[in-house]
Amino acid sequence: NPAMAGSRFAYVKKFEVPDTLLPSTFMVLRLDGHSFHRFQSSFSDQHAFAKPNDSRALELMDRAAKTLMEEYRDIRLAIGESDEYSFLLHKSTALYNRRQSKIVSTLTSLFTSSYVLHWPTFFPDVPLQYPPSFDGRIVLYPSEQQVRDYFAWRQTDTHINNLYNTAFWALVLQGGQTTTEAHATLRGTVSKDKHEILFSRFGINYDKLEPRYRKGSIIVRVEETSVEAAELSGKQKSKAKTHTTLELLHCDIIRDDFWEKYSHILKD
Ligand code: ATP
Ligand code: ATP
Ligand code: MG
Ligand code: MG
Ligand code: MG
Ligand code: MG
Ligand code: MG
Repeated sequence: NPAMAGSRFAYVKKFEVPDTLLPSTFMVLRLDGHSFHRFQSSFSDQHAFAKPNDSRALELMDRAAKTLMEEYRDIRLAIGESDEYSFLLHKSTALYNRRQSKIVSTLTSLFTSSYVLHWPTFFPDVPLQYPPSFDGRIVLYPSEQQVRDYFAWRQTDTHINNLYNTAFWALVLQGGQTTTEAHATLRGTVSKDKHEILFSRFGINYDKLEPRYRKGSIIVRVEETSVEAAELSGKQKSKAKTHTTLELLHCDIIRDDFWEKYSHILKD
C-alpha cells in the first residue's frame, strides 16, 4: 500500500522484530485458564465448579478446543485437562508464516471467545461473572519422540492430579475432614496408598471412575477419504480434498497402539 509507505512516522514499524518459528519443527500450543484456582475469588469458585471434576467445565473446554480445530486444519491432535488444552500443529505448517505472536495470540483469542460464546450452553443456570482469560505459549519439538513424550507428560499429569483430587475430596466431602486435615492425610502418600484410601474407606475403585477424568480429553483429526475419492486412481486420489472429522476420546495416549492407529498425526 503506497499510501502507508511514505509518512515520516512509518519507521516505527521497523521496531517490530520478526518472531518466525523454526521451520520443520512440531509446534505445541498450550493454553491455560488464567487464575482458575489460585486466588480466593477464583474463577472455578465463583462459578461453583463441582469438586473434584466439573464435567460441564470440561465439556466446555472440549467445545472451545473443537472450534479451534475446525478453524485451523493444521492442528492434528489436542489433549485437555482441567483448565488447560494443548494443540499439536504438524511440523510443516505454514500458518501465518509461522509467526509466533500471531499464532499464539490469534488462537488463544479464538479459544477464549468460543469458551465465552458457548458458556450458556454448558452452564445454563450460572451466569458468567466476568470475562475469563487464557494464557498461551508455543513450544517447539524437533522429534516425534518428544511430541509423544509431551502428550504422555500431560496425560500423566492428568492422572496424578485426578488421583490426588479424588482422594482429597473424598476425605473432605465423604470423610468429613477439613481441607487442612485432608492435605495432611495425603502428605507423603504414593499412588498405591491413595488407591487404598479410596477403596477401603470410601468403596471407590479408582480405575472404574470416568475415563474423562482419568485420561483427560483427546481430540484427533481423522481423515476420511470419501467414497468418490476412494474410487479415483492414485494421482487423482491424492488431489481429492480429504474430508476430516474430529474424534473426542478419553483413551490412553502413552502406549504405542494410539500412535499406530493414528499414524497420520505425525506425518508431514
Ligand atoms: P497482520 O495483521 O497480518 O498480522 P500487520 O499487523 O503487520 O500484519 P496490518 O494489520 O495489515 O499488518 O497493518 C498494520 C498497519 O501497519 C498498517 O495499517 C500500516 O499502517 C502499517 N504498516 C504495515 N506494513 C507497513 C510497511 N511495510 N510500512 C509502513 N507501514 C506499514
Ligand atoms: P494460573 O493462572 O497460573 O493458570 P490457576 O489458578 O488457573 O492459575 P491452575 O494450575 O491452572 O491454576 O489450576 C486450575 C485449577 O482450576 C484446578 O486446579 C482446579 O482447582 C480448577 N479447575 C479447572 N477446571 C476445573 C474443572 N473442570 N472442575 C473443577 N475444577 C477445575
Ligand atoms: Mg491491521
Ligand atoms: Mg498454571
Ligand atoms: Mg490455570
Ligand atoms: Mg491449569
Ligand atoms: Mg493486522
